[in-house]
Amino acid sequence: MQCPICKHGETRPDRVTVTLDRTSPRNLTVVFRNVPAEVCGNCGEEYVDEKTTSELLRQAEVVADAGTEIEIRQFAA
Ligand SMILES: [Zn+2]
Repeated sequence: MQCPICKHGETRPDRVTVTLDRTSPRNLTVVFRNVPAEVCGNCGEEYVDEKTTSELLRQAEVVADAGTEIEIRQFAA
């Protein structure tokens, strides 16, 4: 697709690192590597689709439930 941010670049499928950060109800940082996304070849903006985003949030909840504060994991859909 054409990049909606810079309006010049074309996005292409790639793998990116996504960091989820929150401070409530307690500190939680989860870094997901190897997340499928569309990346703009011009400005580098990353677009993660809704399905992937909700999966990231679901997996972050699992980390939160385990009481972990910081975790780095490979994304697995
Ligand atoms: Zn762009």
